[in-house]
Amino acid sequence: MTSNALKRYYEILDGDEKAKYLLAKQRGVDANLDDDDDALWRAHDKAIRGAAERPGGPSLLDLKMELGRRMLSECRLCERRCLADRRNGEKGHCGVLEARVSTDFLHMGEEPDIVPSYTVFFSGCTFNCVFCQNWDISTMPGSGFAIGPKDMARKIEARARAPSMGLLGLTGHARNVNWVGGEPTSNLPFILEVLNECIANIPQVWNSNMYLTEDAMSLLDGIVDVYLTDFKYGNDRCALRLSNAPNYMSIVPRNHRLGRAHAEMIIRHLVLPGHVECCTRPALSWIADNLQEVKVNVMAQYRPEHRAREFAEISRPLGMADYRKAIELAESLGLELCD
Ligand code: SF4
Repeated sequence: MTSNALKRYYEILDGDEKAKYLLAKQRGVDANLDDDDDALWRAHDKAIRGAAERPGGPSLLDLKMELGRRMLSECRLCERRCLADRRNGEKGHCGVLEARVSTDFLHMGEEPDIVPSYTVFFSGCTFNCVFCQNWDISTMPGSGFAIGPKDMARKIEARARAPSMGLLGLTGHARNVNWVGGEPTSNLPFILEVLNECIANIPQVWNSNMYLTEDAMSLLDGIVDVYLTDFKYGNDRCALRLSNAPNYMSIVPRNHRLGRAHAEMIIRHLVLPGHVECCTRPALSWIADNLQEVKVNVMAQYRPEHRAREFAEISRPLGMADYRKAIELAESLGLELCD
């Protein structure tokens, strides 16, 4: 049976569809960018529902960029809702001010559908996972390099236009742009500015913990082609204890529903040692019960990094028995697993 989970993504790769951000750049909307926040959000909500077209008006992407900039004054990009005035140097929980890129390269180790993937790792994160495998990036929001939207866009354009076989894969063609970290959420306004400078028909992949607010999710509607998500936990207690993420089950499942309503989706679930019953089972069951046509990657590559050794059950690598149980569960639920 042919999968429909990434149908539109492949149509973009074949040149039969346009990346959503290009459509958002082309669509004029009925909005005045000097209006107050409420009026702009109303115009945006109408626009993403397909109404409020105005040829010659600001583009839908212009409107999203203006709303994103304003959100930085009282930051509520993620559900920590710090209300920090990041435009004036006030740091919130993630510690991110300007966007800083820890590293960017052509990733060959992601899911087969998306490699080679031009992966941009932002410094800083909205979570504090004790087992973070990228802790050197996520816990240091001031690390990496600052880059302007135009220069970032130039890198993307170069990746989109490069020949398939570059030098050792280092300079080759990317099938998509993969925004990750740390966490991309803190950098959403910057990413919108970058896309405003791009013209390449290249899919946008949002690689995230999905702890965004509904407003931030709404800004991604019409921009993201594929969500590449982490669905880590199956209950609030484990999420709070291991990622310092309150109300996980009220937020992350909601955002999976919202994201799936406007884009395609690959969901990652990293199996944690000793968490098959409390996390893997409810997380995979929720996906099976609530989301249609998504791909699921049940991941075995857990290793005790960062502060994991302070937590008894995750202070060891994942055992084969736990992983086998997770795969059997996913198969019994009828989930479409990644190759
Ligand atoms: S993105 Fe950072 S500053 Fe903004 S609400 Fe989240 S943690 Fe706070």
